[in-house]
Amino acid sequence: MPLSEEPGLKFIIVGASIAGLTSALALKAAGHSVLVLEKEEHLCGADTIPSGGARVPPNGCKVLFDLGLEAEIRENAVVGEGLMMYTYNSEGKDEGWEYFGLNLWDPELLIEACGDFLQMRHRDLVHILYNATMKERGTDDQSGCLSGVVTILFDAEVTDIDCDNCVVTMRSGEKHTGDAIVGADGASGLVRKCLIKEHDSSRDDAFTGLAFYSANIAQSIAIGDDELTKLYQYPRSNMVTLLVGNNRGAEVFLAGKDRDIQLCVYTPDSPQDGSWNEKAKRDIREVVGPCNLLMQKLVAHAGPSTCVQIKDHCELNSWVSTSGKVLVVGEAAHPFPPISLHTCSVAIEDGAFLGKIFSHTQDPSRIPEFFNAFEENRCGTLAALTSFKLRRAMSTFMTLPDGEKQISRDAMMRANHAAGRNVLDAPEEDMHTLWENLRKVYGYDPADAADEWWVSWGRFRQ
Ligand SMILES: Cc1cc2nc3c(=O)[nH]c(=O)nc-3n(C[C@H](O)[C@H](O)[C@H](O)COP(=O)(O)OP(=O)(O)OC[C@H]3O[C@@H](n4cnc5c(N)ncnc54)[C@H](O)[C@@H]3O)c2cc1C
Repeated sequence: MPLSEEPGLKFIIVGASIAGLTSALALKAAGHSVLVLEKEEHLCGADTIPSGGARVPPNGCKVLFDLGLEAEIRENAVVGEGLMMYTYNSEGKDEGWEYFGLNLWDPELLIEACGDFLQMRHRDLVHILYNATMKERGTDDQSGCLSGVVTILFDAEVTDIDCDNCVVTMRSGEKHTGDAIVGADGASGLVRKCLIKEHDSSRDDAFTGLAFYSANIAQSIAIGDDELTKLYQYPRSNMVTLLVGNNRGAEVFLAGKDRDIQLCVYTPDSPQDGSWNEKAKRDIREVVGPCNLLMQKLVAHAGPSTCVQIKDHCELNSWVSTSGKVLVVGEAAHPFPPISLHTCSVAIEDGAFLGKIFSHTQDPSRIPEFFNAFEENRCGTLAALTSFKLRRAMSTFMTLPDGEKQISRDAMMRANHAAGRNVLDAPEEDMHTLWENLRKVYGYDPADAADEWWVSWGRFRQ
């Protein structure tokens, strides 16, 4: 379609992953034109790279269902019922590794949040979003509003951004101009780097000393092994198995149409500063260290893996450029550690919020105001999560080095289990704060929050 005929505002989105595609889908539904530029040749990179697991808690699940994706999501997801905790290695235990107990998701919380805990393959989630984004909707959607258009270009790496004039330059030298640029290019992305420079948010990302390996085991292979077959027996089939160890840990769950095993390992043996798009240089078998029989069986059958270092990223002073025309979303705005429970859902929420506020304007002069409203609202929402993240970061909890903290963590889980409680239950006053935080996080609806901003503020400034 010639540029002059494209409807609405012209958005350029850098990155076709979860945040970029959800934003594209929601902005298209709001009647705008979106050009998505993705540096990889294919969605999620080469097919030879294994897909990692993605966990989507109720707040993200609810948004995906509201976007009309429930059937595709249900086909590809396992609905998680909770966590099962074990020790990572079997040293000193007569009966193999120790079972600490269960942590079930509270059914009341799920009803209130209107969503499920989904266990998925990262690749499936991205493909579902892509297919929905590219689906032809005709000129009008069901509500009678004019639908926008989305164009996605692959092998389209952005190498330079002019924040004032809203121009991106690609590796090929080609330039694209829009009304606004949305950086959904991840924690190491160019748009994030531009904003770090512009707002002087300078602090180097700090390596935590742990890396995250991700690999798959196909169900057809797993069911040939006695130990791995147990992962397919209910209720374990609908739980995330967590293994906690000395500076090491693992998460294991089933996902995808074929219910393959997703294996995620935390390890200190991590010289490679790798990415989700390249194979790990060291074989996963070399980095697991002393581990229990389940882990030994898992890595024996695992295919190729990826290795991503866990970093403490610097906080951006602002998610919006000084020109007001460039915004970062998803990991580019607020990076989480890999496989953090919240990373996918907050990226999805970002896209949904962005699309919803922009359903209220087609006026380019209002872009800075809307981008700043996005930052103010989403920062406020994520504050509850940040404190939650700080207090209960699962990777830290699971990989505590042997010592005083590990002893009290294990004692807490044993005492909870013996008393018939969830293993992760904390003392009553802490539980109260925790539940309040969870209620806020899981009960949040980005479309409602965006409309609330519009009704309370946005509509008065037309
Ligand atoms: C291929 C892939 C696989 C992943 N697998 C897992 C997983 O298994 N488990 C997990 O916990 N997390 C995984 N992640 C990370 C996960 O997607 C994010 O943590 C989170 O879900 C939110 O993602 P995001 O969309 O904000 O950013 P990201 O998922 O990081 O996506 C950023 C996108 O921007 C693209 N990009 C970056 N720079 C440029 C540029 N200059 N020009 C154009 N495009 C650019 C990237 O190729 C990527 O597609 C994966 C990410 C990718 C890209």
